[in-house]
Amino acid sequence: MAELHDVSKHYGDVAALRGVSMTIDHGELVGIVGPSGSGKSTMLNMIGTLDQPSGGLVRIAGHDVGALTDKQLSALRANVIGFVFQQFHLAAGVSALDNVADGLLYAGPSLRERRLRAYDALERVGLGHRLGHRPHELSGGERQRVAIARAVVGDPKLLLADEPTGNLDSRSGAGVMELLRELNAGGTTVVVITHDRDIAASLPRQIEMLDGCVVPEARSGVVPEARSGVVPEARSGVVPEARSGLVDGVPR
Ligand code: ADP
Repeated sequence: MAELHDVSKHYGDVAALRGVSMTIDHGELVGIVGPSGSGKSTMLNMIGTLDQPSGGLVRIAGHDVGALTDKQLSALRANVIGFVFQQFHLAAGVSALDNVADGLLYAGPSLRERRLRAYDALERVGLGHRLGHRPHELSGGERQRVAIARAVVGDPKLLLADEPTGNLDSRSGAGVMELLRELNAGGTTVVVITHDRDIAASLPRQIEMLDGCVVPEARSGVVPEARSGVVPEARSGVVPEARSGLVDGVPR
């Protein structure tokens, strides 16, 4: 799903990533952990194709990101990748339904079709009863669920979440993590940046960052299935049949 080969990223004199190599397989649920400034967000930006590396190779869903045109990159992001952020990034004064429907703007279906699919996505995240609510009328946990619905309304294969529980109380945060687990069990590859050691420990795999590098031992610290509660199929990288019809229209 995502491969980084010897990826570096420099911001002026700062080396945010120093020769990172790692692979995330289809169907994985992965935490990216590490102290502030260790390169987690930079790594997520690379995987999300939001930024180009200074060196090395990034391959997402089989595409060499460096070889794609801007238009192809936009298509890859729109069709393959969903993003969730700590600050939710919902449009103020816009209903939950239309916030989610806007997640399909690039794909170009009619407004009616976008709203139908947005309704389905909000149902999926347990917010079918909050369609007309605007962000300020929702709790933090509900806002993050709307943001997750917007991220998955286009059925992305890869969901990237940057500190999705960072602004939530522990109960709402647990609910959001449960939702991400369910999406993963349904076949979506999920990558979560988290500072929260408990959340990280609950994930089946952790990629630990330190000073722009991946700590090699992180792989050997894999949490057994029994502790993670993740269905074994999701770990094995096998994509459930139900999911296979969702990749239509994705650039290959
Ligand atoms: P983390 O997400 O682990 O906190 P980041 O990936 O945000 O770490 O940052 C890694 C390093 O790169 C830090 O030293 C940070 O200050 C620097 N950095 C990140 N983004 C930029 C940027 N746009 N311009 C300059 N420096 C940056």
